[in-house]
Amino acid sequence: MLQVAEAQRQVLERVQPLPPAVWSLGPEALGLVLAEDVVGDIDMPPFDKSLMDGYAVRSADLPEGRAELDVIEEVTAGQTPRKKLGPGQATRIMTGAPLPDGADAVVMVERTRLVENTSPTREQGARVAVEDKPPKPDQNILRRGREMRAGEVVLSAGARIRPQELGILATVGRTQAQVIPRPRLAVMSTGDEIVEAAQTPGPGQIRNGNGPMLVGLAARAGALPTYLGNAKDRLESLRPMVEKGLQHDVLVLTGGVSAGKLDLVPGVLADAGVDAVFHKVQMKPGKPVFFGYKEHNVVGTLRVPLNKDGTRSVPTTFVFGLPGNPVSSMVCFELFVRPAIRACMGLSPGPHLVSAEMAQDYAYRSDRVTYHPAILEWAGNSWKVRATPWFGSADLRGVNAANAFVILPPGDTVHKAGTWLDVLVVERE
Ligand code: AMP
Ligand code: MG
Repeated sequence: MLQVAEAQRQVLERVQPLPPAVWSLGPEALGLVLAEDVVGDIDMPPFDKSLMDGYAVRSADLPEGRAELDVIEEVTAGQTPRKKLGPGQATRIMTGAPLPDGADAVVMVERTRLVENTSPTREQGARVAVEDKPPKPDQNILRRGREMRAGEVVLSAGARIRPQELGILATVGRTQAQVIPRPRLAVMSTGDEIVEAAQTPGPGQIRNGNGPMLVGLAARAGALPTYLGNAKDRLESLRPMVEKGLQHDVLVLTGGVSAGKLDLVPGVLADAGVDAVFHKVQMKPGKPVFFGYKEHNVVGTLRVPLNKDGTRSVPTTFVFGLPGNPVSSMVCFELFVRPAIRACMGLSPGPHLVSAEMAQDYAYRSDRVTYHPAILEWAGNSWKVRATPWFGSADLRGVNAANAFVILPPGDTVHKAGTWLDVLVVERE
């Protein structure tokens, strides 16, 4: 049977970044990859600017750092100075205001004192006594264009948009940019026994936990999820929903992929033109997981990804059939779907593994490598991991206390405290 790493490779070798699209630069752009070089349209700062509240001075007037100067003007941020500084003069200036001509330093207000105007040459206006060290030229001034110049590339294609990139983009006047977009992802659940959360289950029925969970996992991974509904275990219910799902970049189904009598999903997918890549992976939980893809002849609403050499590739829907047990669905999502979503977005796919030391002994028997719910904690100088109580793949509640899955090698063993194991990180602060 296929190993997890090989299955992941088979997914990722087929997924290309989506073609760039114009995106609004709000919080929904966070985490996206920029697909253009962004050129600034202005010098920043656009003028020589004061970095302090204080007095703009001529350093030549303050060889010892002390002098009494005539205050000729006051400039606040947003105003422009009208007077040029001459010898013996200062301008009261606020942070962010443009420097007057003639000034070459700003003395912070804390190093000054207003004094009575006793100057015989000045009828009115304040005087200021400066009591500072001799100012260095350009002290407390950011010269025009020091941060960026008009025409300069301020962000390059490939940059990941973080809050500071939103700030830079706004600074150069951008409200939209070309980015690699989020994949559109459809979620559908399957099963005669499934009713939705608002309903009271009848005999033999259970509520649909996987639908909302998978929508949440997809959103957290960066995709744009749509929930299509629950299909009954009948061809006429499954087929139209699968057709709808195939109009998305990614289709995630839950249930109906195991070996049961009514596990009809793989057959329905084959009839809909989905090529199977794998069905079953050597892992627990999640062994029956299915992965395939559909290449579309008609573009329709689908986007055409670019190959690495710039040629257009065929629009493709990637299809994941996840086993219905909730923890199987979750583990398979993190191992296969999340990396595919990230690859669609031009991001490093993961999954995110860390090496951690078992904090206490844990006895566990399995014939397959097991992704066991666990708590991963930073213990001052290394990661420590503890398996949490768990009743197997149907027990989603047992994952509630966990923030990770520790990867237990197969065998009938006690995983001893102090053993180093790989851990699949699913929650990232
Ligand atoms: P299946 O993969 O369809 O054989 O389902 C395996 C187990 O998961 C069964 O016990 C199902 O009732 C359960 N299951 C299937 N789909 C869901 C769902 N959407 N939410 C919660 N449990 C489910
Ligand atoms: Mg089922």
